[in-house]
Amino acid sequence: MRRIYLDNAATTPLLEEVIECMSSSMKEHFGNPSSIHHYGRISKAAIEAARKTVANILNCSIGEIFFLSSATEANNMVIQQSVKTLGVKRIISSPTEHPCVFKTIESLSNQIEVIWLDVDTKGRINNSQLKSLLLKNKKTLVSLMHSNNEIGTLHPFQEIAKLCKDHGALFHSDTVQSIGKIPINLSETPVSFLSASAHKFHGPKGVGFVYINGENNINPSFYGGAQERNMRAGTENIIGIMGLAKALELADNQKDKRKKNITELRDHLKKGLLNIDPDIRFNGDQENYLHTVLSVSFPAGPKADMIMFNLDINGICASAGSACSSGVEHDSPVLGAIKHPTERKTIRFSFSHLNTIEEIDYTLSKIKAFN
Ligand code: PLP
Repeated sequence: MRRIYLDNAATTPLLEEVIECMSSSMKEHFGNPSSIHHYGRISKAAIEAARKTVANILNCSIGEIFFLSSATEANNMVIQQSVKTLGVKRIISSPTEHPCVFKTIESLSNQIEVIWLDVDTKGRINNSQLKSLLLKNKKTLVSLMHSNNEIGTLHPFQEIAKLCKDHGALFHSDTVQSIGKIPINLSETPVSFLSASAHKFHGPKGVGFVYINGENNINPSFYGGAQERNMRAGTENIIGIMGLAKALELADNQKDKRKKNITELRDHLKKGLLNIDPDIRFNGDQENYLHTVLSVSFPAGPKADMIMFNLDINGICASAGSACSSGVEHDSPVLGAIKHPTERKTIRFSFSHLNTIEEIDYTLSKIKAFN
């Protein structure tokens, strides 16, 4: 059966070049990077080369990049340690954050002040609200993602970073969806912490990295060996790290070309959907958005209820904007925060450069057939 993969915000397929790089690494890098003999040194050198690749792309220093298991781990670590190690007394964030940020902050709300910013119906924060909160003199961490994973809205990354710097606040950003797609230059943008995950840019699962600005000395989340300069104990996932660096390098080199192709796909899907039904709407900011995400809100009705099912039986893989718990369907917290009308049905289509216009036409033809 024909399958069309339009769920690239959930995860992306591994690229052939990445598979090749990881396959050679499986053979070459069996040595433990902490061993001082030949095989250990080869593995260690490969990890350091990967770190250099990442640091060069982000324009930061090599010593500020730490590999770990996932963005979930990175986000938990920096948020928790900002409180434990750096004495943060207040966290300002948004209700549209990914659960690994949202829930970590919630878990600290009995120790510190937590403020959830208002967001409008497009998922945008209000810079003036943030600015006025930052005037209060309290050790603060602002945690705001670069791009939203469900609706694609971009937060004003540079402005937020500058506001935080001007007011002496730390700035953490979950850049999982945008890294390798939108340029980030850390020598120009004052960010304290940033997280990323390889499987969102055609790398392997189970590996990510955290950028920790050299001025912020946080403690690790757990203790053990001296790996990652004592920041992340545990023998390194060297094959994963090799795949991460290769995938990020390819993404960075090809980002303009990929963006152009993907934007065409996104525009084509949008236009085609409006031709099918002018009452279809698009969630999130349609001016400042991540090109890989299109969140579509279908008008209420029995057909809308079946849309996810119909896509699936036609081999089209996308993502639902609601979850079913105890037999009751709920909009996701992000859709709740932007006050998406619950009777409408949201489907998130998310693209990669591997998708084609022909696949979008096929998807549109199926949506048209069951509309
Ligand atoms: N943050 C965002 C915005 C995400 O989309 C995801 C993955 O869905 C994560 C964090 C978690 O990443 P990982 O799978 O590396 O834990």
